[in-house]
Amino acid sequence: MSDTSTRDTVILGSGCAGLTAAIYAARANLKPLVLEGHEPGGQLSITTLVENFPGWPEGVQGPELIENMKQQAARFGAELQMTELVSADLSKHPYVLDLGPGKEPIHTRTLIIASGASARWLSLPSEQALIGHGVSSCATCDGFFASGKEIAVIGGGDSAMEEALFLTRFATKVTLINRTDRFRASRIMMERATAHPSIQLLSSTVVEEVLGVEQKEVRGLRLRNVKTGERTELPVSFMFLGIGHTPNAKPFHGQLDLDPDGYILTHGNVFVTRNGRDVPGVFACGDIQDRRYRQAITAAGTGCMAALEAEKFLEDHGR
Ligand SMILES: Cc1cc2nc3c(=O)[nH]c(=O)nc-3n(C[C@H](O)[C@H](O)[C@H](O)COP(=O)(O)OP(=O)(O)OC[C@H]3O[C@@H](n4cnc5c(N)ncnc54)[C@H](O)[C@@H]3O)c2cc1C
Repeated sequence: MSDTSTRDTVILGSGCAGLTAAIYAARANLKPLVLEGHEPGGQLSITTLVENFPGWPEGVQGPELIENMKQQAARFGAELQMTELVSADLSKHPYVLDLGPGKEPIHTRTLIIASGASARWLSLPSEQALIGHGVSSCATCDGFFASGKEIAVIGGGDSAMEEALFLTRFATKVTLINRTDRFRASRIMMERATAHPSIQLLSSTVVEEVLGVEQKEVRGLRLRNVKTGERTELPVSFMFLGIGHTPNAKPFHGQLDLDPDGYILTHGNVFVTRNGRDVPGVFACGDIQDRRYRQAITAAGTGCMAALEAEKFLEDHGR
């Protein structure tokens, strides 16, 4: 096929989905280019112990798992670049990727989108310092570590209720903290949460500081009642965020079909559409198209599928 400046495969994102896609694409000799984006290594690079990724009986540190994936991809010829995609023109093939002012655009025959969905945080310095040390945005991943402890869950919607209920399997007490006095959760979820003997609801309350930065583990929360201004301390060992995720799909607004919350819609696991029609050679994998499971292994699984589909596309179109 045509000119050599056009890439066979560009992978957007260097989390577990993007890096798994890179391993498969590189082993298929597609010489993939991985754009690492604002968070090289993705979400696992900001966590500590991962105990549910198969193959690690004692668990593995998130950054180590990611570093291993990077080395594995690079060993087979994947090229990693610290670059952010600003916009993409997917209206004609080969596709054009814009990396911002002063940077050469990239032309590619296939594109694998693995740009993830970023958890929303409170953005307090103390919270950021304690991510992976008692602060988490993933109850499925870190609930087990909260066994026998008193914990807090932040949020007032369905995902916060779901997290709180799930965490009662491990924690002795769960305090649900909501900034307003109106919980957005559905009635059924509210009923379940309020009826649970281990869940306590605190409304009109914000977290001002996560305590324990010096000790490198969550020791409690400094809270403020937004109505009365009263400040209190809540002794907890974990703080889980349940205030949602933001899918990193900005470059694809108007280019691909997204769901109302901005996740890329896929069918057949990884195929994307534009106005209901398949976009040939473009695939999405990992958390950017999965609002349900959000796990490293599911991201890796769909990353593999996306790379195999990209390879097949190139074969079918006379690479
Ligand atoms: C605190 C925490 C703990 C977790 N623990 C576990 C666990 O124990 N077990 C488990 O299975 N899962 C865990 N998870 C979930 C797991 O990390 C995610 O499911 C997984 O990282 C999703 O992988 P991904 O590749 O789809 O996306 P991400 O890991 O989010 O990676 C997205 C990538 O896309 C890049 N990107 C985004 N936008 C652009 C752009 N415009 N241009 C270029 N690049 C871009 C980012 O820089 C990043 O590299 C945890 C998550 C968190 C937050």
